Amino acid sequence: MAAKLIDGRTVAKEYKEKLALRAQALVESGVTPHLAVVLVGENPASQVYVRNKENACIKAGIRSTVIRLEESCTQAALEETVEKLNADQSVHGILVQLPLPRHLDEARVLRLIDPDKDVDGFHAMNSGRLMNGQKGFVPCTPLGVMELLRAYDIPVEGRHAVVIGRSNIVGKPQAMLLLHANATVTVCHSRTQNLAEITRQADILVAAVGRAGFVTADMVKPGAAVIDVGINRVDGKIVGDVDFEAVSEVAGYLTPVPGGVGQMTIAMLLANTLDAAERCGR
Ligand code: NAD
Repeated sequence: MAAKLIDGRTVAKEYKEKLALRAQALVESGVTPHLAVVLVGENPASQVYVRNKENACIKAGIRSTVIRLEESCTQAALEETVEKLNADQSVHGILVQLPLPRHLDEARVLRLIDPDKDVDGFHAMNSGRLMNGQKGFVPCTPLGVMELLRAYDIPVEGRHAVVIGRSNIVGKPQAMLLLHANATVTVCHSRTQNLAEITRQADILVAAVGRAGFVTADMVKPGAAVIDVGINRVDGKIVGDVDFEAVSEVAGYLTPVPGGVGQMTIAMLLANTLDAAERCGR
């Protein structure tokens, strides 16, 4: 294997240790950082994600409250829950776990979250702030990718970064963060033509597609940093978007799945919650 493995587990662990110190300082100053998570229904993956977030909060010294609503919950009841959390001064961060049951309007709920408590960074106000280079909450996964690049001293400025995927929660904010870090950025998506020709030019290649084994070795420039955001379940196993074995022979750096980007996502959620609490405490 030629590629250096980017160890998200270790980076996230060290990062969370620093966050725990920040949380402790806040508590000592009289502010208990507090994340509220709203979970609707019984989606098994969502339950695992929420439990992981809860455990990470507890470990870091952040108070965590999970509000569980029935699968059959009405839009009005969900919105009332969010409004209450908006008004609750003890709550610094609010997160509505997605996906919501199909009868609920996700976009409407996300719009309702106070942008200054929107630690997932999904509110249009925060997308706008990111676009304009203003301070705001940035979605956790792309933020985590930037931390991984930093942790491994992978140069970004002046490099060609190619992002595959243009979702509001990964691809677009990822492209914006890379642009702010002075990369030359290309965003590819489902209608992109000659994809491999473009990805082969990437010094940094971020895959956020949601298809197992999508990025093959012939799509990667030798020595490139390949960041695999994908989470796909294949035969009961979690795999990324990158053909790990083959690409590891070509890339310079590569994130494993699991153990790469996913580890950073929760760390960034904690960081955003502490940012919110610190702003309140001032
Ligand atoms: P999404 O479905 O919203 O977006 C997928 C993107 O892939 C789209 O923008 C689409 O244009 C692009 N795409 C689809 N087919 C393509 C093709 N043939 N060629 C080029 N582009 C194509 O998904 P998402 O929410 O952005 O998530 C992407 C992946 O990242 C998923 O596997 C998801 O589970 C994972 N994810 C991981 C984390 C984490 O913490 N590691 C967080 C969020 C999402």
